[in-house]
Amino acid sequence: MTSKALQEFLIENLNELKGKGLYNTIEPLEGANGPVITINGKVLINLSSNNYLGLATDSRLKEAAIKAIGTYGVGAGAVRTINGTFDLHLELEEKLADFKQTEAAIAYQSGFNCNMAAISAVMDQQDAILSDELNHASIIDGCRLSKAKVITFAHSNMQDLRAKAQQAISSGKYKKIMVITDGVFSMDGDLARLPEIVNIAEELGLITYVDDAHGSGVLGDGAGTVKHFGLSDRIDFQIGTLSKAIGVVGGYVAGKRELIEWLKVRSRPFLFSTSLTPADVAASIRAIELLGKSTELNKQLWENADYLKAGLSKLGFNIGASETPITPCIIGNETLTQAFSRRLYEEGVYAKSIVFPTVPKGTGRVRNMPTAAHTKKMVDEALAVYEKVGKEFGII
Ligand SMILES: *Cc1c(COP(=O)(O)O)cnc(C)c1O
Repeated sequence: MTSKALQEFLIENLNELKGKGLYNTIEPLEGANGPVITINGKVLINLSSNNYLGLATDSRLKEAAIKAIGTYGVGAGAVRTINGTFDLHLELEEKLADFKQTEAAIAYQSGFNCNMAAISAVMDQQDAILSDELNHASIIDGCRLSKAKVITFAHSNMQDLRAKAQQAISSGKYKKIMVITDGVFSMDGDLARLPEIVNIAEELGLITYVDDAHGSGVLGDGAGTVKHFGLSDRIDFQIGTLSKAIGVVGGYVAGKRELIEWLKVRSRPFLFSTSLTPADVAASIRAIELLGKSTELNKQLWENADYLKAGLSKLGFNIGASETPITPCIIGNETLTQAFSRRLYEEGVYAKSIVFPTVPKGTGRVRNMPTAAHTKKMVDEALAVYEKVGKEFGII
């Protein structure tokens, strides 16, 4: 017999979500997540992936993955600390450290896992964490897991950060204090104010932690937001993902040798969850090599992003204040935003709507993620659809 209490809980809550229009149905792709995707037999220009550089379908990465499967098989067979560490994992970690200009790096199964792993490996109930209010869900969960006191500061508000840091210090209650932020905020595409954050942290003795999931491969000629600001040797934790611009799956922490040494003996997803598969690791190594050799894909990404942004602005859309390829098209009203996104879909453009509670009420937007793999023709087609639907809705 299944639990009656559980069944009641599930039905009540599912119905509530469905009633509020907040229940998300997932539409599977019939093929690769490239610049063009197929859903239900319908071919769409894809403006919703994090595959910034088009590497998810790059033939060089595919070859590397296939070769690794031939040599090592499909699974790692164990956690890293038993015998699930291959020479490939170490090669990846060396390449990541080089790429990030740090002493060392450690790879995890996902970016999400990095935040589960790294925060609680160093912070505990005697510590405090200053966290930007718009930080990613995995940072929020990682902070909770650590049992440290979490103090949120207003988004990118340096006065608030400083005041709350000073307050935490003068309370005398905490052994260590960390400031933690996304490098790029994924809903608006704005950058963390890292130079100021680092100055405050150095002045007040805070640990610095930057999760640059959306910055790696995108900013700083590909090396990320920290490199973009020239702060590679002044940030304690640099988190990155292998799942966005790198095009595969996985995550990493880059930093000083002692930090990485500690994470290898104390971070729980490293100790208790099977390591990245050989194919993932080999493909990621290939991606990092490519990014180290050439900035061509990065340039193409920015060219496409600039072109899309200029086009949407010229049509009269409000595209917010993004500093990255992430291009929100702010519609406002939640229902209107969802209807707008649906019409784009009908006209052949896949761009997801993002509404309250993910973003503040009244700032519903359709979020566009151009990639290096889009052609100018695809972007032009998307812009033509935006023009048509925008006029239809009386938005432009
Ligand atoms: C996407 C994202 C993650 C999760 O990375 P995955 O590799 O997909 O698990 C973590 N942090 C931030 C800031 C992200 O944007």
